[in-house]
Amino acid sequence: MPRPIQALIHPDALKHNLERARASAIDARVFAVVKANAYGHGIERVYEALRGADGFALLDLAEAERVRALGWRGPILLLEGVFEPRDLELCSRLNLWHAVHCEQQIDWLAMHKTHQTHRVFLKLNSGMNRLGFTPQAFRAAWARLDALPQVDEISLMTHFSDADGSRGIAHAVETFESAARDLPGERSVANSAATLRHAQAAGVRADWVRAGILLYGSAPDFPEHDIAHWGLAPTMTLRSKLIGLQQLRGGDTVGYGSSFTAEREMAIGIVACGYADGYPRHCATGTPVLVDGVRTRTVGRVSMDMIAVDLEPVRAAGRDTGIGAEVTLWGEGPHGTRLPIDEVARAAGTIGYELMCALAPRVPVAIA
Ligand SMILES: *Cc1c(COP(=O)(O)O)cnc(C)c1O
Repeated sequence: MPRPIQALIHPDALKHNLERARASAIDARVFAVVKANAYGHGIERVYEALRGADGFALLDLAEAERVRALGWRGPILLLEGVFEPRDLELCSRLNLWHAVHCEQQIDWLAMHKTHQTHRVFLKLNSGMNRLGFTPQAFRAAWARLDALPQVDEISLMTHFSDADGSRGIAHAVETFESAARDLPGERSVANSAATLRHAQAAGVRADWVRAGILLYGSAPDFPEHDIAHWGLAPTMTLRSKLIGLQQLRGGDTVGYGSSFTAEREMAIGIVACGYADGYPRHCATGTPVLVDGVRTRTVGRVSMDMIAVDLEPVRAAGRDTGIGAEVTLWGEGPHGTRLPIDEVARAAGTIGYELMCALAPRVPVAIA
C-alpha cells in the first residue's frame, strides 16, 4: 500500500467559487487564472469545472498549449506576454492574447511575420513597479501598437499592488483612469482581492476580471476576512492518516531538536505527512489540524515525512485516535468539518497561494 497521504481536488467547489466571482463582478467577463499549474491543482484537473469561465489567463506558454490541448477554443491571455520573439509564433498559431508591458515586446511584434492578427493587452504600471509602461509612456506605446498591422485589438490592463490591504486601490485606479482616458479598448484591472473587496468602486467596473486565488478557496485578504466571509469553498484537501501513536509522560519531548516538551501525560499521533509533501516546515507547535474531524494542533517540528499531533482533544470528543484515523492537513474533513488552508498558511508565516503551489509531486492527487 502506498503512504496514506492524498490530495483531493473538489470540482464542485471550483464551480461554486467561479459563480462567486461572477456574482461579484456582474457586468464583467471572468478570466480564470490557471498559472502555476492552476495554483498547484493541475490544469487538467480543474479544466472541466472552470470551463464555464469566459477565458483562461496564465503565463507559461506550455500551459497555454495544455489548455488548447484540452479543447478550449475561447480566449487565453498570457499575463506577462511573450519572453522572446519566437513565442509570437505560438501566439499566432494558438490564437493567444498577450500582455505587452515593455517596448521590446512591441519591437518583437513589429518584426513578427504573420497572417493572424493579434489581440494585445497593453499593461500600465500603476505603482506595483514590476511590469508595465509608466503613465508617461503609456499613450505612446498604445499609438505604436495601433500602427502595427500585426495588431487588431488593443485592450488595457493594470495590476494592483494593494487590492488586499489597507492602502487600497483608489490611487492606482486614478493613475489608470488618467493614463487610459479616451483610449478605446476593453479594460482589465481586477484580481481576486479587487473583485471581492472593490468591485463596487467606480473605475473597477471593468470588462474582464482576472480571478485567481478566490477560485481556489483561499481568501486574498486573510486574516481580515476568511473564506466563510466571502462565501468561498476549499478546492484542495490535503489528508493523511495516523501511522503511529505515542503515550508521552510529563517532560518527554517530540521530534528533531526536542522543540516540544509535554507538560503532563498526553497522547500524540504520528501523521504520514511532512515537508517533502509540501507541508510547510515553518509550521511550529500549535498549527491547526483535524483528526477525525476534531480540531487539534501539531506538536514539535515538521520532519520530511512525518508530523506529530496532539490527540487529547480528539479523545475528549470521543473520536477515532487509532492507527488509520483520518487527518486533515487542510481543506474538507470528515463529518462536514473544514480547515481553511489560510489558517495553516498563517501558522507558517505565508499565504494560501504558496501552500497550494507547493504541493509536492509525490502526493497522489484524486478528484473528489
Ligand atoms: C496572478 C495574477 C492574477 C490573479 O491574482 P489572484 O490574487 O490570485 O486573484 C491577476 N492578474 C495578474 C496579472 C496576475 O499575475
